[in-house]
Amino acid sequence: MKACKSDSEMKLKGIAVSSGIIIGKAYLVDRSKVKITYQYLVSQEQVSKEVKRLEDAIRTTREQLITIKNHMPENIKTHSFIIESHLMILKDSMFADASIQRILNESINSEWAVQKSLEEIREIFKQIDDEYIRNRIEDVENVAERVLRNLSGEDQKDLAGIDQRVIVVAHDLAPADTTELNLEKVIGFITDGGGRTSHTGIMAQALKLPAVVALETATDLIKNGDILIVDGNTGEVIINPLEGTIAGYKKRQIQQEKFKSSIARTSHLPAETLDGYRIAIKANIEFLEEVESAREYGGEAIGLYRTEVLYIKSKTLPTEEELFEDYRQVAEIIAPDPVTIRTLDTGGDKIAAVAMETDDEMNPALGLRAIRFCLKEPEIFKTQLRSILRASAYGKVQIMFPMISGLQEVLDARAILEQARQELDTRQIAYDHDIKVGIMIEIPSAVSMAEVLARHVDFFSIGTNDLIQYALAIDRINEHVAHIYEPFHPAISRMIQQVVAAARKAGINVSICGEMAGDPLCIPILLGLGLDELSMNARSIPFIKKIIREISMKDARLDFENILKLSTAKEIRGYIINRMKALIPELEGKGYLYS
Ligand code: PEP
Ligand code: MG
Repeated sequence: MKACKSDSEMKLKGIAVSSGIIIGKAYLVDRSKVKITYQYLVSQEQVSKEVKRLEDAIRTTREQLITIKNHMPENIKTHSFIIESHLMILKDSMFADASIQRILNESINSEWAVQKSLEEIREIFKQIDDEYIRNRIEDVENVAERVLRNLSGEDQKDLAGIDQRVIVVAHDLAPADTTELNLEKVIGFITDGGGRTSHTGIMAQALKLPAVVALETATDLIKNGDILIVDGNTGEVIINPLEGTIAGYKKRQIQQEKFKSSIARTSHLPAETLDGYRIAIKANIEFLEEVESAREYGGEAIGLYRTEVLYIKSKTLPTEEELFEDYRQVAEIIAPDPVTIRTLDTGGDKIAAVAMETDDEMNPALGLRAIRFCLKEPEIFKTQLRSILRASAYGKVQIMFPMISGLQEVLDARAILEQARQELDTRQIAYDHDIKVGIMIEIPSAVSMAEVLARHVDFFSIGTNDLIQYALAIDRINEHVAHIYEPFHPAISRMIQQVVAAARKAGINVSICGEMAGDPLCIPILLGLGLDELSMNARSIPFIKKIIREISMKDARLDFENILKLSTAKEIRGYIINRMKALIPELEGKGYLYS
């Protein structure tokens, strides 16, 4: 992140993850976990003071919870029982009294006492047979965290309760936090953390919220109520802009809106190059509610349905019926075109889904993610597979397995799919017996094994978000390395080239569903590489189709040959920008062609 100050305004530069310019007031929230916690002994004279400190924090917590409950919007009032249960936990003797007793008996500080009580309660919950009740430990942790924050004197803000038009400024937002945002009020957000392809950014696109991440110090520099300009195309954030700056951005906002609506008018046209090559353009979605707008933006099908949200939203695992209902509707709305439903990709930065009891991991991106989790939890996996299969009777559905690293995982996943099919056969439930099964290619080992893998699946979809992460060893959500997360690294084009060649040899379809597919600058390379289809966030579709319509495949292939002769990402980016300026001059000055 770069920061610079001119007169009274200050500019920050982060990474743009969801397009659009917004101007509004800052609203600071801190969603980072409480980082404490010092553990220390207190002297006998200090013990009573320490007890009072904890009592004060518990009182403040109670007052905050009551305020939240009283201010719940009408439409979610039915959920106020959650707050009630938090108030009860706060009163519970195992929590409050036990913590106070610990301070008195062991002469330890309040934070330590709360942590010890929490630890004891965790142990008790672990032994409970009933899964639903066992999972309620999450509520206790939530309450303990609030008390710990109050002990540390940190301010707390509630995302769902935001009642003014604001731009949220946070150290970090988990994808789950974004689902809590009050979308009628929040006009966008910025964070210190995150990277180009973090799932929080992907959720921002799905929610149509302009967003910039990886600003590193935004929460240190911005105060509540500061006026902000956020440019979700360039990654610029301006704090307390001068009047002239605001006027300039408002003008740019209008120009962009005009440009977008002129492109939108042609979004139904096919993505056909000047020399007649047609590329299928599909949409990535995270929620059922996005299917309609995917169509409006010109999406020809759903190329990637990320299925994590239903698992984040509920605190218990979704049932086969709930999943089926959701998938059936997606399949019906998009029919006769297909939807590719990706099986659960839990872990990494996505979800520590409450109901899944995954432990904290040192390296979650290298941990129990996606297909690894599903193969370890075959019942959870099979429930999802049965729902997907059942939905296939109502439209055209394809199944896709994420994070495949080699053939054994494909064979194991297919074996569980076979069991799911047999279970449905026994129950005499209909499904598409010819359902296509594909895999994501997003781990370098899968690239090396692409020729072998291609013989066992019906299609490949290249997940460049993770492929870049794992190939370049750059954590996709770490703001400190976000500037070197580079789709133009020559190794990435070579890897995609290898995967396309393997798919061609086996005669299977190959697409890209990572963020590269929706990045205008990547289009000449992806055309030159010969992909069959591109799947992207729906808002990018009209623009990407327009770019494809203005390029010929002949030029793209020649450009790709030239690009293969270049050895650094910087050279490749420079080459592409120059070519784009030459091929589509009207793009200049619109904020798309920057390095
Ligand atoms: C990818 O990795 O490119 C991808 C599309 O999957 P996700 O972003 O959900 O990890
Ligand atoms: Mg991925």
